[in-house]
Amino acid sequence: MKTFAVIGLGRFGSRLAANLYENGAEVIAFDIDPVCVDKIGNSVTQAIAGDACDISLLKRFDIGSCDYAIVAIGSNLGVSTLITMNLSELGIENIICKAQNSTHKMILEKIGAKQVFIPEHEFADRLALSLISSDKSIMDYIELSDKYAIDETEVPKQWTGKRVGDINIRAKHGVNIIGIRHGDDVEVEITPDTVLDESAVLILIGSYDALRKISKM
Ligand code: ATP
Repeated sequence: MKTFAVIGLGRFGSRLAANLYENGAEVIAFDIDPVCVDKIGNSVTQAIAGDACDISLLKRFDIGSCDYAIVAIGSNLGVSTLITMNLSELGIENIICKAQNSTHKMILEKIGAKQVFIPEHEFADRLALSLISSDKSIMDYIELSDKYAIDETEVPKQWTGKRVGDINIRAKHGVNIIGIRHGDDVEVEITPDTVLDESAVLILIGSYDALRKISKM
């Protein structure tokens, strides 16, 4: 069973902690505010009230043995930096942090966070992609990471009737075609001679940005 320490039980941290626990993980939830700790109560394995800037406290509760530590304190750069340094010092490899902006993200990455996310940015990017997608009746997309996804999109008008080799999608757009949907059938053997017909749907892999640009064509 994977073990998680969730530090900071605001809206994001408390929801994440409860969700991980519901899905069978062992979760130690940590917050300086006893009210937040009381609220999460039975929804985690153990809820601790204390200051995570204090490394001796983290050691006392053996936070260093967790597989993952999530620092869910976006609003205070100083505090999240110090806590991330403490967790790194305890030897936790998978430190995941919430940041408020790109500068905050860069600092946390430099001091040992393995993954840093800015929830508002990521949600906005994904919402934009899904809204654009539904406009063009693109089906759905699969998130692969915070940068890359697989998406389905109708063949843009300027590509219909063309060969895959002619549109140069990888070099020009940084995206690969991994399949072409024809109704319920999916063609996966794509060659430069494959012709893109109007009714086909492209299955693409690439960055959110690149996928969004193609879906707008
Ligand atoms: P939200 O998820 O609600 O958007 P946020 O990113 O705005 O949260 P804060 O509300 O500032 O961040 O902090 C999240 C939680 O972290 C709060 O419940 C706060 O009490 C807790 N917290 C702040 N400092 C510490 C600390 N030193 N040790 C442990 N918990 C802390």
